[in-house]
Amino acid sequence: MNEVHKLEIPTPFGVGRVNCYVFTADGLTLLDPGPATEAAYETLAAELDDRGFAVADVDRVLITHPHMDHFGLADRVVEESGARTVAHREATRHLADPIGHFDREQAFFRPFLTAMGVPEQVARTAVTLPEAYTNYQAPLTVDRELADGDTVDVGIELTAVHTPGHAPGSVCFVPSAEPVAFTGDHVLQHISPNPLLTIVPGTDDERTRSLPAYLDSLEKIQTVEAEIGHAGHGETIPDLNARAEEILEHHHRRKEHIADLIDETGAMTAYDVMQELFPDLPATEVFPGMSEVIGHLDLLEDENRVSISEADGIERYALR
Ligand SMILES: [Zn+2]
Ligand SMILES: [Zn+2]
Repeated sequence: MNEVHKLEIPTPFGVGRVNCYVFTADGLTLLDPGPATEAAYETLAAELDDRGFAVADVDRVLITHPHMDHFGLADRVVEESGARTVAHREATRHLADPIGHFDREQAFFRPFLTAMGVPEQVARTAVTLPEAYTNYQAPLTVDRELADGDTVDVGIELTAVHTPGHAPGSVCFVPSAEPVAFTGDHVLQHISPNPLLTIVPGTDDERTRSLPAYLDSLEKIQTVEAEIGHAGHGETIPDLNARAEEILEHHHRRKEHIADLIDETGAMTAYDVMQELFPDLPATEVFPGMSEVIGHLDLLEDENRVSISEADGIERYALR
């Protein structure tokens, strides 16, 4: 696809640069402009300038999912260009009010993590830490809300494939004329994307079952006719189906490992499992680590292989 450019935009996060894709076949379209930092803005402006464009020329901004390393800068682009914004309908509430979303997550997950066996102080730190990052985003109003299967014309026709799991409202954009997919963080070549727990869109007090949803979405992307994946971070995915299969197998192995662990130990909290699996996790990794473990416990629960008992407000998992 010679009318698509890949810009590598810096982020202040451990994941490194984020890939912003630029479509030039009809006006100017950005897919995931990057976080709301001066460095990201300057890089975006300079990279567009190198190609004969300016931020003010942008006609559309497409968002793959509501994480600030992807959408944070979008509002500034819109202010400068008047661009129309496009995202999945399950992402719009989060995008429009990212601080409110953060507050809802904090309120829900602190007691939730405690019930999962996380010590009070660790739970408080785990849910408070992301506050340091809230400046890297600005609220974004979505002009066009997508549903699964909707198409967007950016000079080429893109089909939005809803792939929740890494985040609610995650979409892969699949061009009709080329065997490729723009995968956001749904599939990455060198990292296994984290099935982060969050609040179910439209609710305040219900968590997502992110890993079961994520695995379904991996199978779904394998049904799309795309050989190559243009990912949200890092290199191009040379064989999208094979990479999706690798991630499915990785999670299958981890699930069986966790079942063995519970079998050997007897009843365990999710926090016990996490400490066995990832000893000495830094505080910043506790929430992703717990998301991963609870995701696997959800899978075992869905397969009817674990029972959950509660005592003194703490939930423990045992094999059936
Ligand atoms: Zn993400
Ligand atoms: Zn990302």
